[in-house]
Amino acid sequence: MRVHVADHPLIAHKLTALRDKNTDSPTFRRLADELVTLLAYEATREVRVESFDIETPVAPTTGVKLASPKPLVVPILRAGLGMLDGMVRLLPTAEVGFLGMVRNEETLEATTYANRLPTTYANRLPDDLSGRQCYVLDPMLATGGTLAAAIRYLVDLGADDITAITLLCAPEGIQRLEADVADLNVPVTIVTGAMDEKLNERGYIVPGLGDAGDRLYGVV
Ligand code: URA
Repeated sequence: MRVHVADHPLIAHKLTALRDKNTDSPTFRRLADELVTLLAYEATREVRVESFDIETPVAPTTGVKLASPKPLVVPILRAGLGMLDGMVRLLPTAEVGFLGMVRNEETLEATTYANRLPTTYANRLPDDLSGRQCYVLDPMLATGGTLAAAIRYLVDLGADDITAITLLCAPEGIQRLEADVADLNVPVTIVTGAMDEKLNERGYIVPGLGDAGDRLYGVV
């Protein structure tokens, strides 16, 4: 597993405002959106493209476009939705699938809604992801349980290259994820805005930014 921690003053500046508990939801949403677009630039460095011929007003030349099958962007509900617009702004022709994951607050383990509710809920993904690059969006890589379950789910459907974009992550989560995806035969990359210090006893990232979903959607 490859981990890329963004090292850019603009990202650090926006993250600082995002962390501030006095930042209101509209500002939080705007900052999250801007951060994702910056992180997406790095995350799509290996996106597959194919060549095709065009003519400029001056001469014929060869350009590139996104290869088929198109990459799939997968926000993990609920907080990942706050990252979707920023991502598709950079990849407008990508397809979007949705994955409902919940964390059991006692065990801090993740499960798909499909295991708890009618399977149609999680079928907002194509049935067959063979040969697809997937970009998973989840703002907080905390224990790593949610992301590990999501990545395994996508690989089981055939995805052959996974990049997860997170705003923040904790070292414990990265360590756990690394162990959990070690047996998967596909490349996994994590692109994150910052590596924080640790997790607290409730599984929150420290210093973090609190509950990303609540802050995005104004729940207090
Ligand atoms: N999820 C969040 O929203 N925040 C954390 O700090 C950890 C998990």
